Amino acid sequence: MDVHFIPFHGRYLIYRPLRHLAFIGNQALVDYLRGRAEQSAGTPVQPDIEAFLDRAAYWAPDHVPAHSAQTSAARPSMAVLLMTNRCNLACTYCYAAAGNQPPVDLPWPLAKQVIDAAADNAQSNGDTHFGLSFHGGGEPTLNWSILTAAVAYARAKALPCKVSLASNGLWSQRLSAFVSNNIDAVTLSFDGVQAVQNAQRPRRSRRGSFASVLRSIQALDAAGVNYGVRMTVTPAALDQLAEGVRLLCSETGVRTIQIELSFTVARGVYADPSIADGERFIAAFLAATRVAAEYAVDVSYSGARPWVLAHAYCLAPTQALIATPEGRLVACFEAAGTDHPYAREFTIGHVTASGVERDPAAYGAFLQRQETRRAVCTGCFCFWHCCGDCVSRAMVSSAPSSARCHINREITKALIAELIEHGGGVWQGN
Ligand code: SF4
Ligand code: SF4
Ligand code: SF4
Repeated sequence: MDVHFIPFHGRYLIYRPLRHLAFIGNQALVDYLRGRAEQSAGTPVQPDIEAFLDRAAYWAPDHVPAHSAQTSAARPSMAVLLMTNRCNLACTYCYAAAGNQPPVDLPWPLAKQVIDAAADNAQSNGDTHFGLSFHGGGEPTLNWSILTAAVAYARAKALPCKVSLASNGLWSQRLSAFVSNNIDAVTLSFDGVQAVQNAQRPRRSRRGSFASVLRSIQALDAAGVNYGVRMTVTPAALDQLAEGVRLLCSETGVRTIQIELSFTVARGVYADPSIADGERFIAAFLAATRVAAEYAVDVSYSGARPWVLAHAYCLAPTQALIATPEGRLVACFEAAGTDHPYAREFTIGHVTASGVERDPAAYGAFLQRQETRRAVCTGCFCFWHCCGDCVSRAMVSSAPSSARCHINREITKALIAELIEHGGGVWQGN
């Protein structure tokens, strides 16, 4: 039985991830549960505790999730186009160091092949739709003619297409109108209060981007587009995170905000955060969630998701065809440029004007490396939620003792405690 007794404010979170069951107990209860599990002769049965445990189905067997994602015969039905390495912003923490390299845009023949492959796969799978998603390595909307052509081409397929876009939100009125009318789901990056947004996400000219991006979010509100905001917080801005969340909640109609601690120390330079910054982030994140709760806005952090039970952190390698501008097929959205530190390991095929080819050996090796890496997570109560973490984060945050792991575990603990509170003392199965 997979059970964890996690020290928590002088008591324990008693946690069975594979049952989605959690409650808080003292040392005596932990000793009792251990004794009963080991059928220790010195543990007399206590009827009142047993009645509680029966109600909670504490002794029920583990429910291990199916290993569907990596063994399924289903073929990737999401086309992810990494459109360009150019950008109109010069964010201080940009993982791709967008704009530093000679410009490369995804050309139409490659975009078309990826869309065709995803649509054909969806048809073969018997799916109800296929997906088309525009992402970075740069600002996707800068490759404007290909983006608009791709949307029109995908929409003309017999199978319906869900189109999504991750963007910095530095949009003209024309672009804003296009997004409102043509994109089904938008993730827009915005870091909060004016001073932080302008310092962390300046234009290439160094002028601020705050007012323009806020206007873009409000345009999405006005058009009723489904969107979420991604906030990145650097150590220097942690004290302003809650204020930034309040600004977003009060000035826009945002419903979901994802908050991440910057995972770079300079443009294109990945690093595990320091433990001290990790601690500050945990406190700032939890304070921000309390602010958001006042507005009934959902806040998330990528490494803490106790409601998920899975074998892999991310389904992108198995369910998406991710194409870089120069025609590599990659396993991760972040492996956009050839200068990405793991560009070779994350390349699993290629895209040409005549087709999309996944290299079975490279793909198999990539999946195998993730399995091997996750083996060190055995014993971590986040094993089934964080699943060894995002492969890009894991590059520099070695499990199980990195600062990122610490953040993941602490925020997961806080979320479980919240779920217990909402459940009236027991979190059970939801
Ligand atoms: S983080 Fe995004 S918006 Fe900022 S410079 Fe990089 S690609 Fe551009
Ligand atoms: S591995 Fe991480 S960065 Fe890469 S696509 Fe998945 S979630 Fe995104
Ligand atoms: S050890 Fe770290 S990477 Fe592994 S599951 Fe736990 S938090 Fe995630």
